[in-house]
Amino acid sequence: MNRMLLRLWKRSDAIEVECRLDFREPLSGSFTFQLACGYQVDRIVDSDGRCLEFESAEKRTIDSPYRADRGCYVVKNALGTQFSIFYSGASRAQHTLFSDDVLAINRASGWYPCPISPGGGVWDAEVFIYPGLDYVVLNAHFLPEENAWYYRPQEDELFIVALKNYRCKRSQGGVIYYYPQDDTDDHIAALCVNSLAGLLPYFESLYGCNTVDEVSIVSLPTSFNAGAYNIDRTIILNRLVFAYGKDTAVSEEPITHLIGHELAHNWCCGAAGNWEDWLNETSAEWSALAYLLENGHTSYVHDVILDYCREEKPEPIRTRDGERPSQVHLKGTLLFYHLYRMYDLAVIKYLLKAFVELREKNTDSWLRRIGKHYPQLIPEIIEGLHAELLGGRL
Ligand SMILES: [Zn+2]
Repeated sequence: MNRMLLRLWKRSDAIEVECRLDFREPLSGSFTFQLACGYQVDRIVDSDGRCLEFESAEKRTIDSPYRADRGCYVVKNALGTQFSIFYSGASRAQHTLFSDDVLAINRASGWYPCPISPGGGVWDAEVFIYPGLDYVVLNAHFLPEENAWYYRPQEDELFIVALKNYRCKRSQGGVIYYYPQDDTDDHIAALCVNSLAGLLPYFESLYGCNTVDEVSIVSLPTSFNAGAYNIDRTIILNRLVFAYGKDTAVSEEPITHLIGHELAHNWCCGAAGNWEDWLNETSAEWSALAYLLENGHTSYVHDVILDYCREEKPEPIRTRDGERPSQVHLKGTLLFYHLYRMYDLAVIKYLLKAFVELREKNTDSWLRRIGKHYPQLIPEIIEGLHAELLGGRL
């Protein structure tokens, strides 16, 4: 596999990066890569330290507040197997933050070269981060001899979160890092982390295995609402998520629902990010709803489903072009609710486990698995996958 070694220095509102690429096959010709437009490439050198000529080609505008725009770079006359790219800057995207106290960057931020051609596909990546010991870097460990934090991604995305001057709370199951902005934030942070005490053993017993020793939750002090996210088995929230119930009393149920959904992704993952993503999202959502139903929150779950029915737009789960449905979070949830009403929660829990235990995570192999125990469900599910609207049937 091709290797990518990144060294990252944090400045107050930017980063400096050295990215060394090791290609398995020597290049002869050119290589291209993309980086977010907010970064300036200073130089590209080969293994002998010789500067290579490069040009920056067309800018790709994505026109989304969630992903940074990219620029494309072309290195001509590239020979050999090793190149280093030196660049610096900052970008704007979801769960992305450059401040004195926080560095949060991910694939959407476009902070590392991706995609690279030739070489595409998955890279064996490692990152050395040099913010010093004032910061904690999540999912990384400190190497005293390097004076660096060492990070290897567990998934195919380089998500770096470095924090200092945070407040944190611990519970039996995990820890939350946050930056309080008013009086209620301590209370909400406690609700978030305390919800793990019920959710974690529930999921571990439902799925028959545990996934982490301690769950980390981070609330980024940003007002940009990009929802919640599970990456490298870490739950990332932005501050607006904490606004639940700010008008009235802080309500525990939406927080348990939100943390439950994100935590469930520790198990409910692995299906492709196209239309098959409905399996990841529906399983995560129903893991949280199953917990709520079994813990006396039936009317809350009912209200959630009513909201989803009101929001639903016509579009089948199995989209015609195979792309991710725009309402991937609610479509399958409504399909499962229909099955829950026709049968019971035990059937839903079987569907969840069947997905989590699958080796090949796709809808066809999931249906084959279910067909062995509950053949009567198959026509209902297949019809639901093709229906334009699911809420009307409830
Ligand atoms: Zn999700």
